[in-house]
Amino acid sequence: MIHLTKNTAFIDQYGRQKRKLRISVTDRCNFKCSYCMPEHPEWIKKHKLLSFEALYQFCKFMVEHGIEQIRITGGEPLMRQGVVHFIAQLQNLKPFGLKRISMTTNGHYLSQYALSLKQAGLDDLNVSLDSLDEQQFKQLTQKSIKPVLAGIAEAQLVGLKVKINCVLIKHCNENQILPLVHWAKHHHIELRFIEFMPLDGDQRWSTTQVVTEQEILSELTTEFKKIDMVNQAHEPARRYIVDGTVIGIISTISHSFCHQCDRLRLTAQGDFYNCLFAEKGLNIKSLLEKLDEHNPEILDLEKQLYYAIWFKEKGFSEIYSKSKSNLRKISMHMLGG
Ligand code: SAM
Ligand code: SF4
Repeated sequence: MIHLTKNTAFIDQYGRQKRKLRISVTDRCNFKCSYCMPEHPEWIKKHKLLSFEALYQFCKFMVEHGIEQIRITGGEPLMRQGVVHFIAQLQNLKPFGLKRISMTTNGHYLSQYALSLKQAGLDDLNVSLDSLDEQQFKQLTQKSIKPVLAGIAEAQLVGLKVKINCVLIKHCNENQILPLVHWAKHHHIELRFIEFMPLDGDQRWSTTQVVTEQEILSELTTEFKKIDMVNQAHEPARRYIVDGTVIGIISTISHSFCHQCDRLRLTAQGDFYNCLFAEKGLNIKSLLEKLDEHNPEILDLEKQLYYAIWFKEKGFSEIYSKSKSNLRKISMHMLGG
């Protein structure tokens, strides 16, 4: 067992302290979102997945080093058996500095899991909803919207704090900006639009498909007269109050928040990424599997992570301009968003 004391925080060469950790618990998903999943995904073999035991030890270690928020993601996290129990177990880290446990889901299985997620102490939940139009939703995800809407309703009913994520793609679902804002207002739910990022499985992304923050705001002004910006430190979403409702925009492409990025990521097979756009990760699976405070290899892990974090690049544009991104195999369904 690791002894939890307040150790030195993880910080990178540009002085950005790391406070948030995203853990992908599986790369598998029942959806096939065009902006995320490759046409022919090669799933990680089950025996290569990190066990929840190893993940928990890792979370403990990271909380010891200053992580305050953990988000569970995927693939589709609700497809991994044991994830609710894992959330309940993470509560043990709250006395040691963990402040928030969150999840991002496609919502398909949410009706079934909402109550147990609430009972396990999940603090907040992001649900992806890219369109309210049934056909368009199906075209984008290859699945039906009905269970997702039912799941969102159930999550609200049991008292989970829900936010909606919508990835906008030009000539595809940009017509959903106003309908989604009206829907969010009606359901008293926070909505965030996300600029399409070059992390789709088949690498078809191009700047021409990005609906920028400015374009979203222009669309909003056609209907709403009062739009006020709210300042939010260390949050990737720039938040606006649109006629009384909070709308966030994650504008990684047109207005990146890299200069204050405090996030780290771990894939389901134990690849540690210091950035969504990093060329490659650091595989720490074998070290995590024997993570124990009495094991000298814990020092090895600490050292490797310090280096990996320290050399985090300045930001998206710097990495993207010099990357050989067409060689990069990893996409959003593995990184977890
Ligand atoms: N399956 C869950 C879901 O869809 O919410 C969790 C994993 S998904 C990879 C996490 C988030 O990443 C989702 O909100 C999704 O919309 C977003 N995402 C996926 N691919 C993206 C891309 N190429 N650009 C921007 N956001 C993306
Ligand atoms: Fe699955 Fe989420 Fe990717 Fe859609 S965005 S394919 S739901 S992992």
